[in-house]
Amino acid sequence: MDTIAAIATGGVVSAVGIVRVSGSEALTASDNFFQTDVLGTLTDAVSKKMYYGEFRNNNNDLLDICLCSVSRAPHSYTGEDTVEFFCHGSPVVLSAVLDALFSEGVRQALPGEFTKRAFLNGRMDLTQAEAVIDLIESETIGAAQNAVGQLHGAIGVKMDSVYNRLIDITAHFHAVIDYPDEDIDEFKSDNYINTLQSISDDLLRLLESHDRGKILRNGIPTVIIGRPNTGKSSLLNAMLGYDRAIVTDIAGTTRDTVEEKVMIGNILLRLIDTAGLRKTDDSIESLGVERTLAAISGAGLVIIVFDGTEPLKSEDYDVLRSIPPDVPKIAVVNKSDLNIVLDSSEFNDLNLKYCTLSALSGEGLNTLDDEIRKLFPDQAAGPAHGQSLQGEWITNSRQAEAVSRALFNIKAAISSLTAAVTPDAVLTDIEAAMIAIGEITGKTVREDIISGIFDRFCVGK
Ligand code: GDP
Repeated sequence: MDTIAAIATGGVVSAVGIVRVSGSEALTASDNFFQTDVLGTLTDAVSKKMYYGEFRNNNNDLLDICLCSVSRAPHSYTGEDTVEFFCHGSPVVLSAVLDALFSEGVRQALPGEFTKRAFLNGRMDLTQAEAVIDLIESETIGAAQNAVGQLHGAIGVKMDSVYNRLIDITAHFHAVIDYPDEDIDEFKSDNYINTLQSISDDLLRLLESHDRGKILRNGIPTVIIGRPNTGKSSLLNAMLGYDRAIVTDIAGTTRDTVEEKVMIGNILLRLIDTAGLRKTDDSIESLGVERTLAAISGAGLVIIVFDGTEPLKSEDYDVLRSIPPDVPKIAVVNKSDLNIVLDSSEFNDLNLKYCTLSALSGEGLNTLDDEIRKLFPDQAAGPAHGQSLQGEWITNSRQAEAVSRALFNIKAAISSLTAAVTPDAVLTDIEAAMIAIGEITGKTVREDIISGIFDRFCVGK
């Protein structure tokens, strides 16, 4: 493979900027520019040791005084010879360093190309490569811990265990097909059903973690609804701690949806303020109402705001009816700094959790946080701690889809075995499951899928 280079630290001013070079010519190309008193040539460098020296371009102009380290194949991130320059973090200096390397036939790395090479050279499986991007993009410490657990191999280890158990079974079935006189004896058949059942349980557990994993990675889409002037925008601002949405006392000011993120302990909420639910003839506002209804249908949590200074009105019941029954919801009785007349026992009758607060003064906001934590205990606790457990929640929909396909095929194999169907039919199901598992780790994945995965990365990773 040709030799590639990129700025690994992004094009921003920072204390230190790293230029990474990988490929068979990495050392010889770099040697033209880096000089240090302690080495004749960079090719003599001891792997993984830092050298202090000068980076000079082809005209012998001094570009930077920097550190350089060499990692030799196969003991590097990419599995290839790699050189890293730790320069001063000026984008101008870093581009000049890159240009010098390009003059020696090194080319600009594509997004994710270093990690793609790590995968192609067997330094990591596909679940680990995908964990790299998840780790970089993680927005909460919980998401980061889950990603680093996967980088450590949490999903890969499980998939390998499933794959190896399936190989054992297929080996026997092939033997039976090749020697048709030999029947699958009943004892063995029972054993296989047990093994397949335990695989099916493992896959189901993993698949069930995807709902938690998605929330961990993307946050809970949270919609704040209520009739106009109940204090939805004020509540959003109070939760965010600064004025994001415009607050006025003219009904229907919030015409579009506004989205912001907020952390409640470990829980990431994606707060969506909406135009409110109100029957209206105003065309701009009715567009907002449509968006509100769409947001509710995709919500993971709905917060319904009521004006506590007024009794519940028929429009309040309309708002409540707009929420699908299975969506988690919390009622907020707002304006607790004023005289509260709303009878909250009606919420008990509706089996609706509620809290009373003042979005204006912030009083009682912690009770809302507590209700949210109670509704999402898994997220509040975060993923399991400890190296062996960390990373067990699937956050990636590509992986979840393949797990669900594998599960489908394993269940079909169990039914066929139970019904004593011919061995080749069972084998077809098991092999389909193996292909699906192989797609997760990268054993059997197509090139276009691989390209799609690494396109999501940033340059230099
Ligand atoms: P929205 O239409 O539901 O988004 O309501 P807003 O957040 O725009 O608030 C409507 C009016 O109620 C504004 O005048 C706010 O200042 C007022 N308001 C909101 N929350 C409170 C509160 O907790 N206490 C009091 N006293 N007024 C509030």
